[in-house]
Amino acid sequence: MVGTASPTSGARVTLVLRTRAELRAALAEAPRPVGVVPTMGWLHDGHRSLMRRARAADATTVVTIFVNPRQFGDPADLAKYPRNEGRDVAICEEEGVDLVFAPSVEEVYPPGFDTTIHVGAIAEPLEGAARPGHFDGVATVVAILFDLVGAEHAYFGQKDAQQVLVVRQMARDLAIGTEVIACPTVREPDGLALSSRNVHLNPRERAAAAVLHRALVAARDAWLAGERSGDALRARMRDVLATELLADPDYVSVADLGSLAELGRVDGPALLSLAVRFGRTRLIDNEPIG
Ligand code: AMP
Repeated sequence: MVGTASPTSGARVTLVLRTRAELRAALAEAPRPVGVVPTMGWLHDGHRSLMRRARAADATTVVTIFVNPRQFGDPADLAKYPRNEGRDVAICEEEGVDLVFAPSVEEVYPPGFDTTIHVGAIAEPLEGAARPGHFDGVATVVAILFDLVGAEHAYFGQKDAQQVLVVRQMARDLAIGTEVIACPTVREPDGLALSSRNVHLNPRERAAAAVLHRALVAARDAWLAGERSGDALRARMRDVLATELLADPDYVSVADLGSLAELGRVDGPALLSLAVRFGRTRLIDNEPIG
């Protein structure tokens, strides 16, 4: 167990815990309610916004930092995922986080581990279809983390909208008493959603990546102007994406906000979402409407 006090964080000391036993011991004495922010590290202002929500609502804030191998289909994607734990812990200290849980892979998945949590229909379209097995990995690790932390609240980013729905379904079905709270997407000034993966973009790709948000805004504006056809809204996003040579669209979607089923007509709350490749980097973004 390592405790370090930041010069700027006043009395708060962030404890860095490596094992399940250390985490349980620290949580046994922690004031309630507890809020948890699950992350894969390489923390940015999007993660900070989740920590601030937890700090505002909960007496104890826990950040987990774990690059979960089970949610990566592509070993190369896992290998190149950016990591810098020292910097991440310093950010947690700045934000007044009480506990950081940064376990090894073996600590999360001990030898002989052989269980997968598979969430049904809500995990099938969009990211589920594009990244087979991804949500099995997410649901499995989040179930473990929810059980270990036993928090009243868990904070997730709306940027990964389907992940919020999958985790909520998992927690409800497994009778886990942690409330899943979705928080707004934090963006760069040009609209690009902050993401740990943005670090892989070269300068030309980084400039081009602002097209994701432009496409979403164009479709949202068309919807605000009265367009209700799903096909027309999808076409609007594709047209904007086509203005960027470096953008290679994976999918564009106009789906029901509850079920994520693709919509012919938008008559209620819906999710505009897209996934686009820039070179070897795949980015996602979304905008709820209605
Ligand atoms: P990650 O470390 O990418 O797994 O993300 C950890 C949490 O931060 C997830 O709940 C994400 O949805 C959330 N997150 C990532 N990027 C953003 C962002 N730009 N704004 C708000 N939340 C975010």
